[in-house]
Amino acid sequence: MTRSAAGFDTVSIRALTKDYGAMKALDGVSLDVREGEFVSLLGPSGSGKTTLLNILGGFDRPTSGRVFFGSTDVTLLQPHLRNIGMVFQNYALFPHMTVEGNIAYPLRARNVESAEIARRVADALTLVELAGYQTRRIGQLSGGQKQRVALARALVFDPKLILLDEPLSALDKQLRESMQIELRQLHAKLGATMIYVTHDQREALTMSDRIAVMRSGRIEQLGTPTELYNFPRNDFVASFVGESTLVPLQRSEGGSVSLGTSRLRTGRPVPQDGPIALAVHAEKLILDSPGGGEDWNRFDGSVSDVIYQGESVKISIRLDDGTSVGLRQHCHHRSMSSLPQIGSRVQVALHVQDTILVPCDAESVPQALAA
Ligand code: ADP
Ligand code: MG
Repeated sequence: MTRSAAGFDTVSIRALTKDYGAMKALDGVSLDVREGEFVSLLGPSGSGKTTLLNILGGFDRPTSGRVFFGSTDVTLLQPHLRNIGMVFQNYALFPHMTVEGNIAYPLRARNVESAEIARRVADALTLVELAGYQTRRIGQLSGGQKQRVALARALVFDPKLILLDEPLSALDKQLRESMQIELRQLHAKLGATMIYVTHDQREALTMSDRIAVMRSGRIEQLGTPTELYNFPRNDFVASFVGESTLVPLQRSEGGSVSLGTSRLRTGRPVPQDGPIALAVHAEKLILDSPGGGEDWNRFDGSVSDVIYQGESVKISIRLDDGTSVGLRQHCHHRSMSSLPQIGSRVQVALHVQDTILVPCDAESVPQALAA
């Protein structure tokens, strides 16, 4: 990657579009990624994540728009001239080659001499905690080990930018979670810029400096994990990040909003025009209604479901206005001994600062959207 005049490498994505016939896989995406940053592209299947990553890697060309590394326009530059490491969604390892053969591949392509190749392969294997695995065949490796080899191959030539397309999605939950932590540590150690594709909101929250939430080829919101979680810009982001329920609200006179017959208090600005919804994070809703005060919204309803999940319990509540909300409560001795029965009447409370109002799509009828 070339250095910009300012002395650092920003990846600048400018108004990218990608059309497949009438289908817009990308529809005007702009994004700046700072040197050394870990940015995730988070969105459902088909939202354009892989298309964007492939254009950054040079494996695909946009219909319009530009990509800059620093001040250099790389939009049409061949992949091998970009100095980018890439981990593809399906590993894309060469199955007939050894671990060493796979990792050495990008070095051979760059005409690195063989003693240097052996040294760098050994270093890369140490980084991904596979020291000594040089002569193993790909077919002899577990899913997690293959993933590490793919990672080692992406890092071995010391790229300044590493692109990762759902690298952990094939792994089981436990391995995925430990690899998330390892990848974060690796990112800190290497200092390389990483752009990471995932459809898993928890993974994005765990790993990222910033997250770009994508839908239908557009970035719906760009922000830090806490910004996205606490200040979602619309119903889509609110439903996609965290475990939340969207409840449609009514506007009443004087700019206030209400849920059924109860007027809502909020510590936040009310969205201007159009339909609005309340985004309720399951863990922010309190069952043991805290003492009086103006700081809480209270809703009456009845328990429709109780699901025990070990460390926590998920309780579904049908509110008296007919909408449903999900509540999650951590399990400890006291909470377990007072769990409500299905059908029992309850009151739940939501702090005004946790009362998140979002504009919502008129077409989509917001309903219990647990992530
Ligand atoms: P994601 O990685 O977020 O799942 P993709 O970037 O793979 O999404 O795809 C975005 C959209 O572009 C999808 O609707 C997909 O069907 C379409 N698409 C991707 N590649 C092609 C292609 N080569 N030809 C036609 N449509 C494509
Ligand atoms: Mg994809």
